[in-house]
Amino acid sequence: MTPGPARLTEGDLDDALWRLLSVSDRDDPAAFAAEHDRAIEALDAATEPRWVAWRHALAARRALVDGDREAAAAGVSAARDALGRCLPGAQTALTLAYLAAVEVAADHVDAAMVLAIDAGLLAETAAADGPSRALHQAHLWLSLALGALDLEELAVAQALQGSRVADQLPGVADRWRLLQLCAQQHAELAQTLHRRGQVEPTRELAGAAVDLAEAARALDWEAEPADQDLLDVVQAWAMAGCGEVEDALGPMRRAHKRVHRDGGTWLRGYADLVLARLLSRLARTRSGGGHDAEATDLLVDAAGAFAATGDRRRYRQCLLELGQGTAAMGRPAEALHWLEAYRADTGRAHARGRELWAEMFVRRSRLREAERQTAHLRRVALEDPLTGLGNRRSAERRLGGMRVGAEPVSLAVVDIDRFKAVNDDTSHSHGDEVLRRVAELLREHSRSGDEVYRWAGDEFLVVLPTATEAQALAAVDRLRAAVAGAHWGDLQLPEPVTVSIGVATAPAAVEDEPLGWRSLFDTADLHLFTAKRGGRNRVRAHGGRGGDDAP
Ligand code: GH3
Ligand code: MG
Repeated sequence: MTPGPARLTEGDLDDALWRLLSVSDRDDPAAFAAEHDRAIEALDAATEPRWVAWRHALAARRALVDGDREAAAAGVSAARDALGRCLPGAQTALTLAYLAAVEVAADHVDAAMVLAIDAGLLAETAAADGPSRALHQAHLWLSLALGALDLEELAVAQALQGSRVADQLPGVADRWRLLQLCAQQHAELAQTLHRRGQVEPTRELAGAAVDLAEAARALDWEAEPADQDLLDVVQAWAMAGCGEVEDALGPMRRAHKRVHRDGGTWLRGYADLVLARLLSRLARTRSGGGHDAEATDLLVDAAGAFAATGDRRRYRQCLLELGQGTAAMGRPAEALHWLEAYRADTGRAHARGRELWAEMFVRRSRLREAERQTAHLRRVALEDPLTGLGNRRSAERRLGGMRVGAEPVSLAVVDIDRFKAVNDDTSHSHGDEVLRRVAELLREHSRSGDEVYRWAGDEFLVVLPTATEAQALAAVDRLRAAVAGAHWGDLQLPEPVTVSIGVATAPAAVEDEPLGWRSLFDTADLHLFTAKRGGRNRVRAHGGRGGDDAP
């Protein structure tokens, strides 16, 4: 069944990944484990950072399924390492969002939050690259992670963004799934606002949830029965949020029955919770108070299901609602029991306050984005992309800030000998490689405090602050020798690479006649010309002086 890793293509891995993702968010750990077993060989064989990251991320989720929290933590951290070597984009956003969801499931709230922030940022930037499956899946997983972090407004926003992306793609299954998620996140937020007593916003959100569920049904797509059932439960719940509690009860009871016959543990818990909420709302509207005994039983079952499937957030919700419900029924001892359990389980996630987190998400993501932009611009503006050295602009900026003539400084202009022949006789990419290696050699062998820039083409500039002419000659001759002595054999060049260097030094004490850096540079350039004429692979300075070891 599994294609051998040798014949495996990127497309096969992609297919395996989409299958794994679709069972990851489903209430079926066994299906995930089976799919994971099937993909594991192929994932192990892949060496690209993107797939290495996925291998660890999926292994982390698998470890959680197997109850091995240590292995899960190790998987997350290995995945993050591999992601550090991936290009920013929708793919990376998706992996980060998936990791955030894994971390929430492991109850690592802080880590999940940081991952979610990074994923959100990347997804935002990746939107400019156009719609993609990775992008809408990134929004989907972000929405799930943020929902689990109790950041329901943000979860709704992510679900909507994901749905908009899915709308632009051909896959009707994806569109259906995103509409279902949107409906669910709207209904969840409606429930929270209902609890806070915000009547109008509750109705509005619940109304939107009903519309979204209808929109999913209108699509030409036969979803998996479990997904269909979840949609039914969500829709009944949303109807209740719109005030149609009586009308919602019939469909909800039917969905509840189906789920209890065929559904997984989590979905059974979810149906129990929603039915319990419907019943207690009915009890309130019918008798103006009190609680429903059936609702209490349902909540107990739901709490058990959520505890079993690691949904701590809904487990806590059940405990709280049990406490409130039994208190309303006039059973204070029981209420106290549930509320104590609730308090004991309300770890850091709640102590922090969800508003604070929400604010952090928005603020930190802006801050990080600003930092990222600035760093990026600075790199583009001042760095030579080929060699990673400072470019001419940054060299000029540095020289412009120097008090040439007021303090000793030497400049060395380094030019590769007969470099055109490297390009012509081998290839331009060999030429590029030579430039990179020369840059690296110059950087590696220059004294600490000296600075190397790529000035232009095959020309480099070394700034030697405080160096006298003699010191500068000695220092740059070591650079020349390092290049000449390096191994170039693997590049199959017509001849070994060498450099010629011209040096100019500004003495300290010429204050009456301060030298601009440009004239110092021109002097060095002139000496470079002398070095070339003298036979190349040599250093030249004022008066024909050269480095100690110059040939
Ligand atoms: P000389 O010893 O007199 O310096 O001879 P040369 O062949 O090195 O002559 P010159 O310095 O004028 O040649 C520079 C060449 O560098 C010309 C240009 O095609 C090539 N070049 C400039 N920038 C790049 C680059 O980024 N990559 C590659 N591969 N070649 C470059
Ligand atoms: Mg040259």
